[in-house]
Amino acid sequence: MQFKQPVHATPLALIVDDELSLRLSMKAAFVKAGFEIIEAENGREAISLFQSRRPDIILMDVVMPEMDGFEACAAIRNLPGGKYVQIVMVTGMDDTESTARAFEAGANDFVSKPINWVMLGHRGRYMLRASRAFQELAKNNSRVVKTQEIAKLGNWEINLLDHTFECSREAARLLGAHYSTDPVTFEEFLAPIVSHEREMVRKEIEQAVELTTPFSVNYRVIQSDGTQRYISNHAEVLYGENGEAELIFGAVQDVTELRQAEEEIHRLGFYDGLTGLANRMLFLDRLKKEVVVSQRNSQFFALLYLDLDQFKRVNDSFGHHVGDLLLKAVSEILKKSIRNSDTNALFGKKSHDTMVARMGGDEFTILLSNIGGPENAAVVARRIVEALSITYHLDEHEVLMTTSVGISVFPVDSREPEMLMQYADAAMYQAKDAGRNNYQFYDKSLNQKAVNKYNLEYELRQAVKKNELVLYYQPQIELATGRIVGAEALIRWLHPTKGMVPPDQFIAVAEETGIIVDINEWVIRTACSHCAKWSSATGQDLRVAVNLSGYKFAEQDFVRVIDESLQATGLEANQLEVEITENVMMGDGEETVGLLAKMRDLHVRVSLDDFGTGYSSLSYLTTFPVDTIKIDRSFVMGHTSEKKNSLIIKAIVALGHSLGLKIIAEGIETAEQLELLREYKCDEGQGYYFKHPLPQKEFIKLLSEEGLTNSFGCT
Ligand code: C2E
Ligand code: MG
Ligand code: MG
Repeated sequence: MQFKQPVHATPLALIVDDELSLRLSMKAAFVKAGFEIIEAENGREAISLFQSRRPDIILMDVVMPEMDGFEACAAIRNLPGGKYVQIVMVTGMDDTESTARAFEAGANDFVSKPINWVMLGHRGRYMLRASRAFQELAKNNSRVVKTQEIAKLGNWEINLLDHTFECSREAARLLGAHYSTDPVTFEEFLAPIVSHEREMVRKEIEQAVELTTPFSVNYRVIQSDGTQRYISNHAEVLYGENGEAELIFGAVQDVTELRQAEEEIHRLGFYDGLTGLANRMLFLDRLKKEVVVSQRNSQFFALLYLDLDQFKRVNDSFGHHVGDLLLKAVSEILKKSIRNSDTNALFGKKSHDTMVARMGGDEFTILLSNIGGPENAAVVARRIVEALSITYHLDEHEVLMTTSVGISVFPVDSREPEMLMQYADAAMYQAKDAGRNNYQFYDKSLNQKAVNKYNLEYELRQAVKKNELVLYYQPQIELATGRIVGAEALIRWLHPTKGMVPPDQFIAVAEETGIIVDINEWVIRTACSHCAKWSSATGQDLRVAVNLSGYKFAEQDFVRVIDESLQATGLEANQLEVEITENVMMGDGEETVGLLAKMRDLHVRVSLDDFGTGYSSLSYLTTFPVDTIKIDRSFVMGHTSEKKNSLIIKAIVALGHSLGLKIIAEGIETAEQLELLREYKCDEGQGYYFKHPLPQKEFIKLLSEEGLTNSFGCT
């Protein structure tokens, strides 16, 4: 197609007069001034000529038969294209009333008789020029508006001299501003911006006004229909002729489609089309970054390399479509198996993170960051192998599938991303060789550790069922009197072959595997029932303390278990104390505090165990709901030899007392330690100096034989 340049034709003048002589004179003057002429004898003719020929200028007599000049002028103004035509009314001499009516009817100008014919021609040309400029401006304006609409652009400005704000309608529309006022105010301009970005935008603009600097800022707005759009906002400073900054001129553009396209490109480049998982490229990138982070923080991370066992068989027997469905199903299971909320509890780490990727075909990789210890990767690997080995129902087919997993661990196997990939891959082949449907570490010694841990987990589950767990009780002594006021329940595992296993060797595994939930419940119920027995035997309200560990602390149903135990045993709530470590307190923040507050609502006592070994921020003593502080035994044991420790103990006792808390010292082993603690006015103590933890029967015997009056060297 060819496009032509526009040609500017000779301007056309329409002369409207019922008198022939006047028409001839006007015609002569306008021809001389370069116009082409058409003529009409009255208003009606003028209107139809205007419609057919569209003149640039009209000379209109006022008094005419049929339709006068005022009426014709007003009618033409309302016709299409009538807005910008120049209309000059020809009135009688000094006829001021006609002049006023002429402007009312929409005339641009008037001439009064007698007419200066030479001037009239020039005037015609001048008016034509003005009209063209005006029309050009109007055309440009509407084009700017249209262009802005098409480009999803809008503009706003702040006058720096008087600080007025203006914003174009298009800008307001784009931003979704809800304008109750016209023009749109600055606040209305900001209102649609998503709340957490609004202040940032306001600051940018205010700063630009203050410092007269340009800026660019991107943000999101919520439109009235609730959709979110991305906006790019650029602002420049405009200077006046004297070089002074006059205006901040801003352009806003809706870049939502652009952003979506970018995201799509990103997705295509870094994600697997079939499963939506990260692809090899993204995974390798993440792996490299993980090496840097783990190196810096001295953390372990594991790389799991998965391959479906005999996947080819599925493709061959059921077709690629079913193969694809299987890969999708597998990827969903993988995502679920490594959900951060679960693995966080497993590794006991907050900053833990995971990524699943599809390498291609039936191969997947998983990155588990900050796993605490290398063997922890086995827990996840085992969970994945189990979760994937199921019957899949795919398009009316039943497909059985298993998986083999290889594991490499940073930095045990290597510190190089490529080597870690290679080793995990090699370990995966070993898992295949070992009979498929299992996992293997690249480092063989880790396999042994993982097996041991697995065995321990298995045995521990059995132990709970078979009642192999027992509680021992260590008396707690009031230091001022030497009386037994309570006991701490300490768990032991009476293992059928290994003998008595101390808690340090199984509580961690119990937490990782969630078995602790059952253990906690058992401990609370058992300790309450024992304590009720001693209390009725001695006729004294003795207290029992139980240790609750950190695993998903806030999620466990402690309140129910405690409530039920108290009801069942008739124990008073204030005879039960729960011991929590500082790390648990710090754990899930508000939720933990909420749970502890609920316990205190029941009037159960809360004590802070091993105080001084965790985060040890004294400030939270005022915010956390605790009744008792237990000074960790490392301070007590060191306190006679190290002056610093004794000062710490003194400070903790003083601070705790000022907050109305009870202080218990742990691990008192010598008379000397006891002496100092009494001097510092520590309330209670426990330790080998008084008694080792005792089985329930022996503890009862201690109470009845030696009685509560035993002074334990305190008097
Ligand atoms: P903990 O709560 O700080 O318990 C005090 C530990 O210090 C006990 O070790 C106790 O036997 C020991 N101990 C008491 N007096 C002395 C002393 O004079 N010198 C020395 N060196 N040690 C003393 P145990 O029973 O091995 O318990 C270790 C930790 O296991 C406990 O520390 C507690 O954190 C945890 N634990 C014990 N029982 C349970 C339980 O039922 N549930 C949970 N979740 N954790 C428990
Ligand atoms: Mg304790
Ligand atoms: Mg302790």
